[in-house]
Amino acid sequence: MQPGRQDLMTWRAAKPTNYFATIPDFEHVLELRMGHALPESLREELVSFGEVVATRIEPAVALLERNREFPKLRPYDELGQHIAEIEFHPANAHAAQAAWASGMLATKLDFEGAFQVAAQFLLLSHIGEGGQACPIVCTIGMRRALEHHASRELCDRYLSLLANADASEALRGSQFLTEVQGGSDVGANVVEAVVDPDIAGAFRISGEKWFCSVADADLFAVTARPTSAGPGTKGLACFVIPRSLDGVTPNGFRLRRLKDKLGTRALASGEIDFENALAWPIGELADGFKIAVSELLNTSRWLNAVGSAGIMCRSYLEASSFARHRQAFGVAISTFPAVREQLVIMKSEMCAALASTFALTELVAKIDEGSATPSDVAVHRFLVNANKYVTSVAASDVVHRAIEVLGGNGTIEDFSPLPRLYRDAVVFESWEGTHNVLCAQVQRDCVRLGLLEDVEQWVKIELALVEGHDNAVHVIELAMRSLQPGLERSLADQPYADANFRHHLTSMMGIIQATCLLREAQYSKSPEKSALAQVFIVRHLGAPTPFEEPEWHSFIASSLGADLA
Ligand SMILES: Cc1cc2nc3c(=O)[nH]c(=O)nc-3n(C[C@H](O)[C@H](O)[C@H](O)COP(=O)(O)OP(=O)(O)OC[C@H]3O[C@@H](n4cnc5c(N)ncnc54)[C@H](O)[C@@H]3O)c2cc1C
Repeated sequence: MQPGRQDLMTWRAAKPTNYFATIPDFEHVLELRMGHALPESLREELVSFGEVVATRIEPAVALLERNREFPKLRPYDELGQHIAEIEFHPANAHAAQAAWASGMLATKLDFEGAFQVAAQFLLLSHIGEGGQACPIVCTIGMRRALEHHASRELCDRYLSLLANADASEALRGSQFLTEVQGGSDVGANVVEAVVDPDIAGAFRISGEKWFCSVADADLFAVTARPTSAGPGTKGLACFVIPRSLDGVTPNGFRLRRLKDKLGTRALASGEIDFENALAWPIGELADGFKIAVSELLNTSRWLNAVGSAGIMCRSYLEASSFARHRQAFGVAISTFPAVREQLVIMKSEMCAALASTFALTELVAKIDEGSATPSDVAVHRFLVNANKYVTSVAASDVVHRAIEVLGGNGTIEDFSPLPRLYRDAVVFESWEGTHNVLCAQVQRDCVRLGLLEDVEQWVKIELALVEGHDNAVHVIELAMRSLQPGLERSLADQPYADANFRHHLTSMMGIIQATCLLREAQYSKSPEKSALAQVFIVRHLGAPTPFEEPEWHSFIASSLGADLA
């Protein structure tokens, strides 16, 4: 056998069969943010699900992609009846069954539940979107919206079915806000809601939704404008539309077509025309947009960041293991400093995403538990948007670097999951809010709600808890000071903000992620995490930096730890 092929076979044979153990320092990350040791029951669930993802979900998702077995629309049955059915390859159901059985959708909405969802979703995201992540996120969002706002009757009708851990029996949710005139400008929504004269409390929804993922869902959460409501987002209400009233016939909708997408291809995303679909409001009509944002979008944005972190973990895993096994010029490519630098950058971005996203998870958990202070709520509001933005950008960059480490093989569809992860990462960047729109939202919130003070205070408290990293803390404090004038101007001068706030927010997130990484480094007393934090600081907080060239190389060596041994 040619020697190169033998190396590749050794590489493949060394692939992990459980992703839980491959996420660096993960238990410490969870413990730091949960505030106590990892409960044994949760640990067991994560170990078990880490194996399920690697050994059951992964092969199913890889098969779908390899054979291009994507969802297909079957508008009519053999008797010509309109059914708007979407057909999936059986591997999709196998993957769903395994994902739902994790219990992720059945967790209580409380402190521990938020961590369980985030940790399990991180493991699942090692396979990218895979046709499973979006339905899970939308179903959790739907559950949160109903549990927190819907009438008792709606809750009794749907909640236990949404929280069912058996995928073949569970109801799936979806969320349709976007219309053809714009996804960012939700206030321009024109889909209409008219009171149903015959059914108390019900409405009829008509109009077109342009991006409808989980088009196969059982329950659609839809924004629509009641006839008497005013313009803009204030006039939007949020409704639940059951797919069918008799279990077969579509409830007042036509699925025009499924979109042929760059990524998330195992997921059915369609265009839907509603015509008098029977619907029930979730909460008060006037609170519709607030509910859509706080329950649906904020859930999606939090988990989008978890998903981006999962994609980064998997990309780093693929690239670092390949670098260990692949030989060029008689040595493993992991010995080349330029390859090592790529790996270190990937690892520091991955750990930074985990650090900020699990800090955000702590805030979600406190809000769910009912113990969040007004300041926690403010920091959550800032972070849920800003963190989705930076982690999704980082995920595309990290997969791209991983593809480079694999060379030509990195571009081959069935050689590794990287091409699929890359496509999914690009979609993760735009859905649930594009970068500009999220940045603009954070800027508006800072002006209107004074979030920045709470965020700066939070960063100071986190930094004060870091001991033994004086140099790094000093660099972060300097970066904060130099950012201050620009940030303040962004809150007072709108044209200046329109042109500059995204840059300022990117820098602020660099400060936040570096701070979170340092807290973890200190908590876990890990020299590797300290070195990764230093690498992140050098790359993101820029000048002035006290780090000299030799230090950079020693950071690289310590950051990679045992990964390349
Ligand atoms: C695969 C996929 C699945 C999706 N599934 C769903 C779904 O299930 N439900 C749903 O509701 N939506 C869904 N979406 C839609 C998604 O949420 C929107 O694509 C997204 O919100 C952006 O809206 P848009 O595409 O209309 O872009 P536009 O709003 O047209 O924006 C185009 C560009 O203009 C920029 N821009 C817009 N406004 C501003 C501004 N004020 N300042 C600066 N720049 C601005 C944006 O950042 C972007 O770069 C999905 C999208 C994709 C790609």
